[in-house]
Amino acid sequence: MTDATIFPQLEIPDTLAAGPGPGNTDLRVLQRFASAGVADHMQADVLRGMIEAKLMLRQVMGTRNIHTFGVAGTGWSGLDTLFSAVMPGDKVVAFVNGTFSGIDGLTLRMKAATAEELAAAPLDPKPASVVVVSVPHGQSVTGEIVEKALAEHKPKWAAMAHWETGSGRINDIQGFSDACEKHGAMGLVDAVSSLGVEDFSIDDYPGVAGWASCPQKGICCLPLTYAPVSFTDRYIDSLKKSGARTFVHHPILEARHWGIIDGKDVEKGAYHRTHSAYAVAAFHEALRILLQQSVAGRARSYAFHEAALRDAVTAMGCKVTSNMTSLVVLNLPPALAGREAELVASCRAKGFGIWPTLSEPVQVRIGILNLLNQRAITDIVTRFAAALNDMGAGIDTGPVLEGLQRHYDTAVAAE
Ligand SMILES: *Cc1c(COP(=O)(O)O)cnc(C)c1O
Repeated sequence: MTDATIFPQLEIPDTLAAGPGPGNTDLRVLQRFASAGVADHMQADVLRGMIEAKLMLRQVMGTRNIHTFGVAGTGWSGLDTLFSAVMPGDKVVAFVNGTFSGIDGLTLRMKAATAEELAAAPLDPKPASVVVVSVPHGQSVTGEIVEKALAEHKPKWAAMAHWETGSGRINDIQGFSDACEKHGAMGLVDAVSSLGVEDFSIDDYPGVAGWASCPQKGICCLPLTYAPVSFTDRYIDSLKKSGARTFVHHPILEARHWGIIDGKDVEKGAYHRTHSAYAVAAFHEALRILLQQSVAGRARSYAFHEAALRDAVTAMGCKVTSNMTSLVVLNLPPALAGREAELVASCRAKGFGIWPTLSEPVQVRIGILNLLNQRAITDIVTRFAAALNDMGAGIDTGPVLEGLQRHYDTAVAAE
């Protein structure tokens, strides 16, 4: 046995993560991750860290929901937990306006399908009990669209993405919550892109029964950590009656390790699965940073720097179609239309990590997650202008950068 293949140590370069996510992890988070000691998942400080993280997460989400905790993994792990109470045959209305809400819709179709419906199309079931309301790419889901569909179908569950990262569109969460309340539906919201970026409190939306987010966007905690979730008592009561066909992602069972047992906070969590001391330490620090800067302060900063980037790319002849504050989704100047993939590939090859849209139409996405300073935004604008010029756009970069400088000078003058 001398022919084992051992590759050289894996080196991964530092890139400018200027996409829709993951965002740039704060150095303080990485430092906590790397300096946590080896400790098992029942060690006292690990359990204490999880309880403290739970309490901080409730403040970040603006909620008194007792069932508020982190699900190990990524956004889809949190969303799988969120959708776990949806049972075969349940009536669901899902609003889809891009890539991610589209996958949420697929997950819901898989969960609500009967055994026969799932077997008929295992990877793309079309259960009779699920209505998918499609809103074109680049448009938002409005309160009127939700109201009309819920009035007509009267579902048990309604699902929507708060911010659809595929097209960079903000959907009407107030209208969604109001319609859910009015028609007795339990709202399920994918808040993967909005949590930690927008200033909102989930308790202000009583029509929404469950929320799920992710570690690596607004929470800035990439080292595979925790997807925040929160459930109202109404959701939990429904789940208690129906049960869920999962152990690991069961909202009541998974909550136990976070010290939530029989609907109450307890002093010490009980085993549900193995947790990593590194992940707990990193997540804990990420929540501390967010609360130190405050959710409202972060939200203002995102809005300010997004406006700077938006104005700069507009000055380059691009057309912005998004309204999220962590992300700019744009059409290239007409002369470069159709060359989006080529542009993105050349930027990525140089360590400038921007993205195309993942579904049609092809657009360019530039994100600013945890890049909330003038130097980072100027770096993005400079690199993007250079990439456009390499493709022959002929942009005069001087005035673009002067406009950007003015944006920052005005802000300093206003202070
Ligand atoms: C990023 C994203 C997801 C998926 O999150 P992962 O962390 O990749 O699992 C789901 N929904 C929305 C709205 C997103 O932006």
